[in-house]
Amino acid sequence: MTVLVFGSLNLDLVAYAKILPALGQTVTGEKLLRFPGGKGLNQAIAAKRSGSDVFMVGALGRDSEGEFLNQVLEEEKIDSRFISTVEAQTGIAVIEVSADAQNRILIIPGANATVKFEEQFLSSPKVPKVCLAQLETPIVEVSKFLIKAKNAGSITILNPAPIQDLGSELLAACDYLVVNESEASYLTGDSVEKLKLNEATDIGKKLISKGAKAVVITLAENGSLYRDKQDEIYTPAFKVNAVDTTAAGDAFCGAFATVLAEGKPISYCLKFASAAGALAATKAGAVPSLPNSDEILSMLASVQ
Ligand code: ADP
Repeated sequence: MTVLVFGSLNLDLVAYAKILPALGQTVTGEKLLRFPGGKGLNQAIAAKRSGSDVFMVGALGRDSEGEFLNQVLEEEKIDSRFISTVEAQTGIAVIEVSADAQNRILIIPGANATVKFEEQFLSSPKVPKVCLAQLETPIVEVSKFLIKAKNAGSITILNPAPIQDLGSELLAACDYLVVNESEASYLTGDSVEKLKLNEATDIGKKLISKGAKAVVITLAENGSLYRDKQDEIYTPAFKVNAVDTTAAGDAFCGAFATVLAEGKPISYCLKFASAAGALAATKAGAVPSLPNSDEILSMLASVQ
């Protein structure tokens, strides 16, 4: 089944130091590592590893970072025919991590800011079963993409991260809105860091009344809450030994897209995506932690 992911590709430069420098201060760090990143690429890899044929729309610069990310796309067997090479720098995230796991992140969108929607994305080779987007590329283009994808007959998913105000037209074009706790409370004007289940229910209802068709609020180690006009489904989290929850949400979204594309019932899709999110929390890093379908299926089987 085909999933089309419209989104960002970044090179993550991760600098590790005992303590992070204060403004104007210089400190000596321990090491610098580079990883593939960007929510678009993470979710495309998550969808591919969990069982979909994946096409990605995005942009890279004509630089060594772009070459590195092209190699990653090739290794992961993601179709890159809609990844353009542009006269801008490849997107970069400069991430500083301290010994006590605090971090500070500076993102230079570069080529990601140039991504534009084109009609051909939705027709060649055929209409994708599922179209998935985030907000690390321009929201105007994401809106065009999801509106046209919906009209073309795709199932549409938006993970609005980093969060911004969503217009009613964009909301109406999303079959599923997948938000974490802070994104959910931003959209309803609530300011809750950690949601209790009844608060998530209220926020879910508010988002539906604002025009969302169906909402999934991910609640980290507390699972997720699905809400549409009629139904509510709470899916508990799988119990795991969490070491690093980076990209748990990306694993969730990519895996959710895969099973929706396969036409599975929503309660199964939510369990499958939760298993992917939990597995991603058991390993360090983003891309290295994204699970494949065998790992997800054996986690599902372990609780039946
Ligand atoms: P984000 O990374 O977008 O903030 P969450 O942290 O809510 O998203 O995680 C997404 C999903 O991944 C959760 O709904 C849950 O199913 C799973 N998950 C995340 N953290 C854990 C954890 N510590 N243990 C088990 N499952 C987790």
